[in-house]
Amino acid sequence: MTSPIFLCISSLFVMNSMDKAEIADQRKLFGTNGIRGVVGSGMDVRLALEIGMAIGTVIRGRIVIGTDQRSSSQMLKEAVVAGLMATGNDVTDIGLAPTPSVQYSVAKSDASGGVMITASHNPPEFNGIKVIDSDGTELHFSKEVEIERIYFDKAQKTAPWYEAGHLTTDSEANARYIEGIKGLLDCQAIAGSGLRVVVDCANGAGSVVTPNLLSDLGVNVVTLNANPHGSFPGHPSEPTPENLAALMKMVTSIGADFGIAHDGDADRTIFVDDHGGYVMGDRSFALLAGYAVSKAPGSTVVSTVATSDVVSDVVTRNGGKVVQTMVGSPVVARKMKEIGAVFGGEENGGLILAEHQYCRDGAMTAGLMVEMVAAKGPLSSLLDNVPTYHQVKLKTACPNESKKKVTERLVELLSGNRLDLTDGVKVYDGGDWVLIRQSGTEPIFRVFSQARTKERADSLARKYMGTLKDIIIS
Ligand code: MG
Repeated sequence: MTSPIFLCISSLFVMNSMDKAEIADQRKLFGTNGIRGVVGSGMDVRLALEIGMAIGTVIRGRIVIGTDQRSSSQMLKEAVVAGLMATGNDVTDIGLAPTPSVQYSVAKSDASGGVMITASHNPPEFNGIKVIDSDGTELHFSKEVEIERIYFDKAQKTAPWYEAGHLTTDSEANARYIEGIKGLLDCQAIAGSGLRVVVDCANGAGSVVTPNLLSDLGVNVVTLNANPHGSFPGHPSEPTPENLAALMKMVTSIGADFGIAHDGDADRTIFVDDHGGYVMGDRSFALLAGYAVSKAPGSTVVSTVATSDVVSDVVTRNGGKVVQTMVGSPVVARKMKEIGAVFGGEENGGLILAEHQYCRDGAMTAGLMVEMVAAKGPLSSLLDNVPTYHQVKLKTACPNESKKKVTERLVELLSGNRLDLTDGVKVYDGGDWVLIRQSGTEPIFRVFSQARTKERADSLARKYMGTLKDIIIS
């Protein structure tokens, strides 16, 4: 029988987790990665201007802004800039830049915050507005709720004429970002390694940073889709195996040491090994986290409850430890800062090196991989020593108003098992686990299993999906 103390702690965790989810759910415009929408249908200059004014009412001082290469980015940027200046803020425009370059520019200066115009990996008709806090991390959702309240109440501040903001441009921000990365790498060892690498920038913002970084490091660089283009003509900008077919082929055909791919705003990096094989994001996360820990013995890595155990296996083997948080890179980044972790991230290729900055950092991730392969040998050999786990993801509909009760009922029903209630309900089952989480943005629950074999991962996901569906319909 479960002890009353356990139940008490469980319900406390549920409340804590649910409270966070509820605050996040108050957001009507901001999603997990800023405000996103189809341009001309939800996302337009009127919204950009008024949101710019709302941001400028909450964040006061000098604000850095940058954009990806989307056809609509310049137009939306001008509107946000006007809103920021109209509320009395000075603006520094760094132009076309990866999201982490904008974040670096904010974190390493006296700026009060930043704005990035991007829709990351979404199709070209989308665009988005992401807000950055003064320390370079993505804005906390409580501040996003405040920006939305001002937007919907039309409570934006309007500065008098003599307080209107000034606009300056900064064409050196990407160069400083590159120099910052180089300053943390063993440039001599990389230059002496004779590595050949293929970089696929998906015609995105990474085009203006990563090829330059790698050639500065003395790497023999071959580029694919490294001309910024508003409609992503090379391939859709999500770095999936299907979208990276040309990269995988190029790596083998020219005998490259590995391949690098970014998403549209280059905050994420996915790798292809020397045999042309697509490397799943949890495996590159594990290798780089293990490498970071090996350079700082006894240090900590932050991942999320949804991250495969491959990360903790490799980190532990290298003498480090892992702390898991709720899903979402801003949560990971803040926890890293709080506990002094050296490395963190998620399995989608969004990795964070604390020494550089507290955000997903595509070019930094690429640089670290170059250094590791230069030091330790072929990527495929390094991967041979990384255990394999199988994961299955399922989802099912559930009305938003029922989500809280469904989660509480799940905890009750599964209380005999070992549970982790950091984010949703993670239930351990015979050495494997299943994570059952409500979506913060859609009326659905996700069921995510991990096991040593595909069959076991399938059967676990189906088993707990059955339990979940029974609760939803009851
Ligand atoms: Mg991105």
